[in-house]
Amino acid sequence: MKTGKFILILACLMLCADASFAAKWKAKHVVLIGLDGWGAYSVEKAEMPNVKKLMAEGSYTLKKRSVLPSSSAVNWGSMYMGAGPELHGYTEWGSRTPELPSRVVDKDGIFPTVFGLLRQAAPKAEIGCICEWDGIRYVVDTLALNYDKHVAEASENPKATVRYAVDYIKKAHPTLVNIVFDEPDHVGHSEGHDTPAYYRKLTELDGYIGEIIQAVKDAGMLNETIFIVTADHGGINKGHGGKTMAEMETAFIISGKGVKKGYEFTESMMQFDCASTIAYIFGLKQPQVWIGRPMKQVFK
Ligand SMILES: [Zn+2]
Repeated sequence: MKTGKFILILACLMLCADASFAAKWKAKHVVLIGLDGWGAYSVEKAEMPNVKKLMAEGSYTLKKRSVLPSSSAVNWGSMYMGAGPELHGYTEWGSRTPELPSRVVDKDGIFPTVFGLLRQAAPKAEIGCICEWDGIRYVVDTLALNYDKHVAEASENPKATVRYAVDYIKKAHPTLVNIVFDEPDHVGHSEGHDTPAYYRKLTELDGYIGEIIQAVKDAGMLNETIFIVTADHGGINKGHGGKTMAEMETAFIISGKGVKKGYEFTESMMQFDCASTIAYIFGLKQPQVWIGRPMKQVFK
């Protein structure tokens, strides 16, 4: 066989393989938006029209629990890794490497993440992560990403992150993109949780979420997208990390293709169930070490 013909056949086979992956998927795109330190206690009072529209048009719980401690890296890690700190080993606020040996590591040398699972199943998937806190980069499996953006200038320019997100969505039409704002956590620490400043920040963040939704529309992806908006932990007074529901309960909002509308689900959800739910959307087989449960009830 001539090389040209062989390459043509190979290309066709690869296209078919990709199509068959996509056929199993519940949606072609997942946009995962995280707000650091956004406690579920604030949802009812907050002026967040875009988030509330996603709730009205999608499914949600206000009782997703964080793993303990109710701190950042341990919870972002659990959200992506389908298991808790006892298994993935990232146990602290700022863990960059696991303090406990990860029970299992994948071929990238990290506890299996939903990003790594998607990369292995769909080598050509476009996967991105845009974050304001560089601690996120230690728990996402950056080797699985096409686009890994730490927005270092976010503290001076709070609008920078949404600019990167909008550009990336329009340009790359990502299969999975994780966008993590480092607020309202800072306001929670400086001004306090459940304060006017905290609610003002939530309204500002809601505007960014609106811009991200608009970018998905402009990119012509809306009918094939599932949005998830959630958080690592909440807070109380000027902190978090402890064992109160204000610190431990966060919202999980899922909206878009094939998701039930206006449905507040009552099933128990933990931080690590986020990874399982995204894996379920993409038809990915969970590694045995994962303990997360996909929230199947939210799909029509
Ligand atoms: Zn945090």
